[in-house]
Amino acid sequence: LNLYRTTERHAFSDVLTGLKNRRYLDDVVVGEARDLIHKDAPFSILFADIDHFKSYNDAYGHQAGDKLLNEFADHLRKVVRRADTVVRYGGEEFVVILPGADKAAALAVAEKMRKQIESAEVLLPSGEPWNRITASFGIASFPDDGIGKFTDLLKKADERLYSAKASGRNRVVC
Ligand code: GH3
Ligand code: MG
Ligand code: MG
Repeated sequence: LNLYRTTERHAFSDVLTGLKNRRYLDDVVVGEARDLIHKDAPFSILFADIDHFKSYNDAYGHQAGDKLLNEFADHLRKVVRRADTVVRYGGEEFVVILPGADKAAALAVAEKMRKQIESAEVLLPSGEPWNRITASFGIASFPDDGIGKFTDLLKKADERLYSAKASGRNRVVC
């Protein structure tokens, strides 16, 4: 049983950041979210994406980019509560599930993350400080958004993330 648990834990965790991975989202979170929807229990989905990460990566190398991804994951972890789930969705994109959070509560969480990230000190591989890193966020909420399907909520959060990017980045759209 222990071996099974260890294997399962590894199958569901992202090697770089130690966060949950995409498979966990698809295999576990989707089912949990369906239960919440079935019970009419409110929750929110938050989509986060680092701004201009490609230029940072291109300028300072993949290793520096990896370090930044880890620091970013730490910021997200620091802000959430126990019942929340933080997933590395892919690349520099993260999904956070917030059970019990309506839109206003999710907005407060995202703003806290956004501010923490923009004010964090980032050191380059040389040890020199980098000006700053920012991220953009999109939020979708059940039942506030009137969407009763998890995949559609995720899509809505992603669309709002896109709006946050298009309207200037370093912001939350909900
Ligand atoms: P935007 O503000 O629009 O989000 O721009 P962006 O540059 O952040 O977005 P884009 O999708 O163009 O680039 C994402 C980059 O993320 C591309 C790739 O170099 C980098 N990346 C993805 N996965 C990893 C990883 O595991 N490690 C590192 N170091 N970089 C990664
Ligand atoms: Mg990005
Ligand atoms: Mg991206």
